[in-house]
Amino acid sequence: MSVFPTADPEARSTVLSDTLEGIRGIDLHLHSTASDGKLSPASLADLCHARGLTHVALTDHDTIDGVEEAAERCRHHGLSLLAAAELSCQWRGIGLHIVALLPQGTSSALDAGLEVLASARDLRSREIAHRLEKVGLDDGLARARQEAGSERPLGRPDFAAALVAAGVVPDVKTAFKRYLGAGKRGDVKMHWPELATVVGWIRDAGGVAVVAHPLRYGMTRRKRDLMFAAFIDAGGEAAELVSGYQNPDTTHDLARQLDFHGLYGSVGSDFHYPGGPLSPGTISPPPRSHVRPVWCHPALRRFAGGE
Ligand code: AMP
Ligand code: MN
Ligand code: MN
Ligand code: MN
Repeated sequence: MSVFPTADPEARSTVLSDTLEGIRGIDLHLHSTASDGKLSPASLADLCHARGLTHVALTDHDTIDGVEEAAERCRHHGLSLLAAAELSCQWRGIGLHIVALLPQGTSSALDAGLEVLASARDLRSREIAHRLEKVGLDDGLARARQEAGSERPLGRPDFAAALVAAGVVPDVKTAFKRYLGAGKRGDVKMHWPELATVVGWIRDAGGVAVVAHPLRYGMTRRKRDLMFAAFIDAGGEAAELVSGYQNPDTTHDLARQLDFHGLYGSVGSDFHYPGGPLSPGTISPPPRSHVRPVWCHPALRRFAGGE
């Protein structure tokens, strides 16, 4: 088992509150250059510190490769860091993202799972490239690799950038809208493992599974109920109550839904790069509700500073 240290307990100054309402200084959904983020893990840690955050989780897509570098920098700043990742999976043919919060690092089953995800991502990239040939993107794999600018696993944003660079679409937004967004030809889900499999890996590592941005899958409330039930059945325990900016009414209703299912609530910006609308720590304020913060989960007590 590889264990990544959280921040030096001596350096930790803040204890997280046990309510979501009024919470600040925490962001449990952040990306770095280990996946499709634009800041290195160390630069991201610097930015989080500069923005006054005290508790963060690095949640790169399907990898924990950035965690060690981030941990070193976070220790330097006295910032509490949770090892984490945002894992890709599918449920009823819908692509879902599950944030794995990993207070004990990984396990051999989760390590093997991350290998499965890496090869799924690789196979999927080939399939996406193949499908995009039909809309006028030749040599998509090489072009996406060039846009990525490193050997990290490719993601849909790299294909979006390739479509823009090749002049097929005017901008990334259009690339997703026409070709890569949910249900479009470049939205390839068949290689991803099932929801229950991924949640099983997280549990095996002593981690807490969190449904990422539950409002961003185009599901009806009823469908979301079914998804949460399947997630809980598999051992899932939390969902993001707030992801970046959210409509207050929608958040309020989501809080009721999390409360109904007994899910812990998490918060995160889903930050990818500076210069956009979001920064680390940018989230709409969580409403007053009965939803317990995910950091009150017994496994995260040390991270929260409560012991
Ligand atoms: P992947 O993990 O390869 O399936 O890529 C998913 C990523 O694509 C998300 O984490 C976002 O970073 C990005 N993404 C998804 N939808 C959009 C969109 N509509 N516009 C821009 N980026 C998006
Ligand atoms: Mn992303
Ligand atoms: Mn996501
Ligand atoms: Mn994300």
